Amino acid sequence: MKLIDEYRDNELLVRLRERIHRQARGIGRGVTLMEVCGTHTYAIGRYGIRRILPENVRLISGPGCPVCVTSASDVGRALDMAGKKGVIFTTFGDMLKVPGPGGESLQKLRAKGADVRVVGSTIEAMRIATDNPGSEVVFMGIGFETTTPTVASMIKTCARLGVKNMSLYSVHKLVPPAIEALLADSELKVDGFLCPGHVSAIIGTRPYEMIPRKKKAAVIAGFEPVDILEGVSMILEQIITGEFTVENQYGRAVKPHGNTKAVELMEEVFMPAPSQWRGLGVIPESGLVLRPEYSSFDAIERFDVPYREYEQEEGCMCGHILRGVASPEECPLFKTSCTPHDPVGPCMVSREGTCAAHYRFS
Ligand code: SF4
Repeated sequence: MKLIDEYRDNELLVRLRERIHRQARGIGRGVTLMEVCGTHTYAIGRYGIRRILPENVRLISGPGCPVCVTSASDVGRALDMAGKKGVIFTTFGDMLKVPGPGGESLQKLRAKGADVRVVGSTIEAMRIATDNPGSEVVFMGIGFETTTPTVASMIKTCARLGVKNMSLYSVHKLVPPAIEALLADSELKVDGFLCPGHVSAIIGTRPYEMIPRKKKAAVIAGFEPVDILEGVSMILEQIITGEFTVENQYGRAVKPHGNTKAVELMEEVFMPAPSQWRGLGVIPESGLVLRPEYSSFDAIERFDVPYREYEQEEGCMCGHILRGVASPEECPLFKTSCTPHDPVGPCMVSREGTCAAHYRFS
């Protein structure tokens, strides 16, 4: 507990808050900072960070929630696979309630009789496959660089043990290409990025170097209140001095080179490919597909499920919110017809979704 207490220390928090207010007065104009991590989104809401920031410092959320950025078309494809006879479709819990085309979801499909199972780990998915040799087991792999190495490990284990009735539907995504896309978005005016702690523990600090090249601040931060406020203060300092660089506030978890073993594992099994992001469109090299050596485990090839274009639900502004150009409160459905109990869009599903965090904490 000592470690956590240090990062929730009240006196330290007060001093950081005062420093941030001093820095903001010195800047003397409005600044917008973006966090690109669902865990930050949740922590910022939970600790009321926005409420203690100066008026001229705006903290917005970007495409940091894996469930939220999964496109309607990818959800549609998951539904098509899960609806096939003889298929056991496995995924992590957050995906279950994500609304797909026509408001359909894996949860609703399960209620109609499809065999959709929530798993807590890839090992559990593999066990389902070995326990059910007469069924085809699909695992929907979702998430950023943090979760992908365990999925890569699952595929390697299946190959080694000859588990032939297991396949992967990969909608994995990479964070740096999404930040590149945001930097190229002329509608979005961001002065600095609070970079994701968990993802950076895997990829290290180097992949963010394109941010300072665009004269924007970049600070990797942890998830406790002191981490976040210190991260904000470090960003403001870069803006004040005009010396933009990638700084690492979360040194206790993030090393400059990241976790090389996890990256090697990921690169051995997956290769980058274009990927459709909700709100951001298709971003080159931002998704991960299985390398040819492992393509026999590719659920898309195994089931030949066509890709169809779907629009997001009418009135839902998730796309704008994920780009950082709208807030949940601007959506006419927020807290009316869209609630965590009955979500219209994916940003209201996961607790890391921007709409869910605003619903709960604002
Ligand atoms: S409130 Fe609901 S409908 Fe509106 S943007 Fe958020 S998730 Fe979409």
